[in-house]
Amino acid sequence: MGNLVAIVGRPNVGKSTFFNRLVGKRHAIVDEIAGVTRDRIYGKSDWNGVEFSVIDTGGWVENSDDIFEEEIRKQVLLAVDEADVITFLVDAQEGITDMDEAVADILRRTQKPVYLVANKVDNNNIRMQAAEFYSLGLGDPWCVSSINGSGTGDLLDEVIKHFDETPETDDAEGIPRIAVVGRPNVGKSSLINTFIGEERNIVTPIAGTTRDAIDTHYRKFGHEFIIVDTAGLRRKNRVKEDLEFYSVMRSVRAIESSDVCLLLIDATQGLERQDMNIFSLIVRNKKGVVLVVNKWDLVEKDNKTMKEYTELLKERLAPFNDIPIVFASALTKQRVFKVVEEAMQVYENRKRRVSTSELNNFLHETLEIKQPPIYKGKLVKIKYATQLPTRTPQFAFFCNLPQYVRDPYKRFLENRLRERFNFSGVPIQIYFREK
Ligand code: GDP
Ligand code: GDP
Repeated sequence: MGNLVAIVGRPNVGKSTFFNRLVGKRHAIVDEIAGVTRDRIYGKSDWNGVEFSVIDTGGWVENSDDIFEEEIRKQVLLAVDEADVITFLVDAQEGITDMDEAVADILRRTQKPVYLVANKVDNNNIRMQAAEFYSLGLGDPWCVSSINGSGTGDLLDEVIKHFDETPETDDAEGIPRIAVVGRPNVGKSSLINTFIGEERNIVTPIAGTTRDAIDTHYRKFGHEFIIVDTAGLRRKNRVKEDLEFYSVMRSVRAIESSDVCLLLIDATQGLERQDMNIFSLIVRNKKGVVLVVNKWDLVEKDNKTMKEYTELLKERLAPFNDIPIVFASALTKQRVFKVVEEAMQVYENRKRRVSTSELNNFLHETLEIKQPPIYKGKLVKIKYATQLPTRTPQFAFFCNLPQYVRDPYKRFLENRLRERFNFSGVPIQIYFREK
């Protein structure tokens, strides 16, 4: 089981409003670090300490009333396949429509938990009307108002009962879990196939992992690692694969249960919006990342091509561009070894713990080079720093006036930390706290 909630329903019932209500502004810090704008399709949230992901199926299609019913049907099917809990939104002010009936038909057939959510119940009069949704055959409607927030807490109390408190990662064996992600046709299956070969490979289903995925355990190039969710890559699904929605759903699953992601892009196409979306999923989940520019064999090159290509990529990825980039070919197997090496290095970087004394030596040297600039006439004094006892690198800097430390200085500190301690490929968090 993962912790993934999908929001389904016809246009204008309030899916996007509900999504924002669930995801809120709580994770603004993470978004800021990722350097990406919030999009409505995917968000992380937590309720009473349980973390989960939310996907708004409406985020992929044009939001108009004449949207094809077929399109919605596809999305509901995908949500049913991929999510752990489905919330089905209907509009209590409008009542039941044909399209609601069509969605309910699909949802009645799934074994997964489905919550029928009567949205726009802004007051008690409307609550009475919501009773008609019983006829959809999905049980009690949960009455909520996404606009004012009423009812959403009770609903979340129920929803999180289906979730694990600690999302699945870092299995006890300490073997790196690697996800191969990217748009359709960038070469994910081809790359995974190169791992199966001459050397002895162990292929074992590992209990307790994502419900239907078979995680595969490899021993290759002198390293042991697990490729997560390959079953999903192999599976012939019932809906066309070229839907971005589909690849995002799959990516979310794989990313969440990994330590390090290999983000594949097609060298002949460069880094596109859809690649950036997947990149932001990785960063928001605080996973390690190696950027693999695959199909390098197809690129005409001279001795400057790789350098120029790298610079372009770094520009696109900024501000988080301290990332290993490997120009590879799954077809000719060029640098496939390097891809694995880099993934292992990123795995180590992500586990790195800097001792408090090392960190404070670093801090003193850094402050000698540059102090936080005076802001609104105030002098910020950073006193000491410590790495937090979290699974991924996070640092707290204690100072007199944390609110006066601005982004440029924060980035300066982060870059210095990266240079000194090697966090290449790893999203890190820096907090300023009052002392
Ligand atoms: P989506 O197409 O399903 O994503 O729907 P949106 O979230 O875009 O909402 C459609 C319209 O319904 C917007 O005008 C929202 O402001 C409105 N809306 C959403 N939730 C509520 C609610 O709880 N109460 C009321 N009165 N309006 C809502
Ligand atoms: P996936 O959808 O990401 O799993 O992509 P596939 O592995 O199915 O590859 C899509 C297509 O790209 C197939 O025709 C592959 O043979 C081709 N392909 C994959 N990797 C490479 C590569 O490194 N070089 C070239 N020239 N073609 C590749």
